Amino acid sequence: MLDCAIIGGGPAGLTAGLYTTRGGLKNVTLFEMGMPGGQITQSSEIENYPGFFEHHKTGMDFMDTWQEQCFHFGLKHEMKKVERVAKTGEHFTITLEGGENVEAKTAIVCTGSTPKRAGFKGEDEFFGRGVSTCATCDGFFYKDKPVAVLGGGDTALEEAHYLSNICSDVYVIHRRDTFRAAPSTVDRIKRKENIHLITDTVIEEVFGDAMGVSGVKLKNKAGKTEELNIPGLFVFVGHDVNNAVLKDEKGNFICGMNDWGQVIVDLSMRTSVPGLFAAGDMRIEAPKQVVVAAGDGATAALQVISYIQEQV
Ligand code: FAD
Ligand code: NAP
Repeated sequence: MLDCAIIGGGPAGLTAGLYTTRGGLKNVTLFEMGMPGGQITQSSEIENYPGFFEHHKTGMDFMDTWQEQCFHFGLKHEMKKVERVAKTGEHFTITLEGGENVEAKTAIVCTGSTPKRAGFKGEDEFFGRGVSTCATCDGFFYKDKPVAVLGGGDTALEEAHYLSNICSDVYVIHRRDTFRAAPSTVDRIKRKENIHLITDTVIEEVFGDAMGVSGVKLKNKAGKTEELNIPGLFVFVGHDVNNAVLKDEKGNFICGMNDWGQVIVDLSMRTSVPGLFAAGDMRIEAPKQVVVAAGDGATAALQVISYIQEQV
């Protein structure tokens, strides 16, 4: 029986592993379906993690030292996909791909979320080289330069507002002429002089060269095409929360979730199920930043240690 099963090996899961094992738990396994590191390994540069201020370090380089440190205190790693987490009596059953079951006293789920892609030409080719899904992460790279934002939901408009304080101009491109975002947010956006709304318009293509993005090709409802020269494009067309492991065999969630599929946790990362914790990008109100995911993982780990002590 594991003291703790950690599902997902991004910043939240790795930090949870560090804090549980260094805090004295002997039997902790991190289940990660790929190499540990998480989404940040896709990033070409990270410069907002405090204490780490080397320019042009990729997310992959950044996470290298995490692995060494997080496994140093006895955390075990199984490179397996988890299918399901279920509470069976006092304990948890972790079902792995292939059907094997592992029992654990506690579980911390940190499977993250995945930004959706919009599907225009060049989106994948230029992802991380001018196309981004994170304004907090990459906005500063376009300080005093014009950028475009794709999407008409709350995320797109709130991030456009954030970018408008850094960038010279923000062009919001939306496929309809009404916005899905809250009316108060739309009003706030309309009051910003350097935000320009381009509605009834889709992105056909993002183009550039080896240095990165130089512009987007737009097409409006009437079929008119035009080019917009910008070095950065932010795509906010929704997120898929990786919450499948928290569904039972009938497809119902085993713990409280909000309408967007994010796990409801309290400030201690406790879910509605005793002994089950969630951390990082998959939880409610997640700012989707490495520093926060790591903090969540540490918080959940400390709660796991207390929970196990209380059960004795
Ligand atoms: P993730 O990093 O998403 O990790 C989840 C892990 O769970 C993954 O490794 C996945 O393989 C694993 N997993 C999922 N399902 C299963 C399963 N069923 N079984 C086993 N394993 C599973 N943040 C910043 O602070 N600064 C930045 O500059 C920055 N830049 C970014 C650039 C890019 C391109 C991207 C994509 C993100 C960036 N972020 C940045 C955001 C940051 O990466 C995330 O906020 C952070 O990684 C979230 O950590 P997490 O541990 O919650 O989840
Ligand atoms: P969302 O509400 O699903 O909006 C996605 C936007 O992207 C929509 O405007 C959609 O257009 C557009 N879109 C989708 N696919 C596209 C494509 N392939 N090409 C071009 N455009 C595309 O996603 P979200 O903004 O991330 O919000 C998710 C949930 O979180 C929402 O319920 C939102 O209210 C909530 N949220 C709340 C807050 C807040 O309350 N402060 C902040 C952020 C998010 P259409 O409108 O035409 O479908």
